[in-house]
Amino acid sequence: MQGKVIIFSAPSGAGKSTVVNHLLGLHPEFEFSISATSRKPRGTEQNGVEYYFIDALQFRELIADNAFVEYEEVYHDRFYGTLKSEVERIWNNGHVIVFDVDVKGGVSLKKYFGDSAMSVLIVPPSMEVLEQRLRGRGTDSEEAIRERLEKAQSELDYAAGKFDVDLVNDRLEDTFAQAEAIVDGFLCA
Ligand code: ADP
Ligand code: 5GP
Repeated sequence: MQGKVIIFSAPSGAGKSTVVNHLLGLHPEFEFSISATSRKPRGTEQNGVEYYFIDALQFRELIADNAFVEYEEVYHDRFYGTLKSEVERIWNNGHVIVFDVDVKGGVSLKKYFGDSAMSVLIVPPSMEVLEQRLRGRGTDSEEAIRERLEKAQSELDYAAGKFDVDLVNDRLEDTFAQAEAIVDGFLCA
C-alpha cells in the first residue's frame, strides 16, 4: 500500500531532529523512518532505534541487491540510506512516514514519492548560528564540526528551489508552529 510521507532535510545541526521529534510527539500516526548507516553509534544510540547500524561491507551488499530507495555516502566511507523494507514496514502499520535525511537524500526521496510527499528544507538563520548549535549539541568532535560546516553552504546552494517549503529555524517556538501548519496543510489536502 502507498501512503503519505513527510521529508525533513537540512545541513547537520540546523534542527531537523528537534523539529521531527516535536512532530512525532504530537502525531501518533507519524512514524520515523529508521535509516541504515555504516557510521558507529554515538552516545546512547541503539540499533533499530535511531538507525540500523551495519558495516560498510553489508551496506555495499544491500546496494548491490537494490535494497535502498536512496542512499548517500554523506561523509567519506560513511553511508546512510533508506531501505525499501523500512518504507513498507511503516506503510503496513498504516502510518505516515517521517524522514530526517541529508539534503541530497531529501531531493531523491521527493522525486521518488512525488505528490505523496511534502519536502521541507530546514534552513539555519546564519552560518554563525549553525556553528553555535553544532558546538552546543556536544555530540561531534572538532574535526566533525569543521567537516559539517564546510559542507553546509554547498548543501544549501544545492537545495535552493528543490523543496516544497523552506523553513528558517530561528526561534524554536515559531519553527514548531510553522512546521505544524505545514504538515497539517499537507495531510488535509
Ligand atoms: P540536526 O538534526 O539538523 O543535525 P539538531 O536538531 O540536532 O540538528 O539541532 C542541533 C542543535 O541545535 C541541538 O542541540 C538543538 O537542541 C539545537 N537547536 C535546534 N533548533 C534550535 C533553535 N531554534 N534555537 C536554538 N537551538 C536550537
Ligand atoms: P548523523 O551522523 O548526524 O546522524 O547524520 C548525518 C547526516 O546523514 C544527516 O544530515 C542525516 O539527516 C543524514 N541521513 C540520515 N539518514 C539518511 C538517509 O537515509 N539517507 C540520506 N541520504 N541521508 C541520511
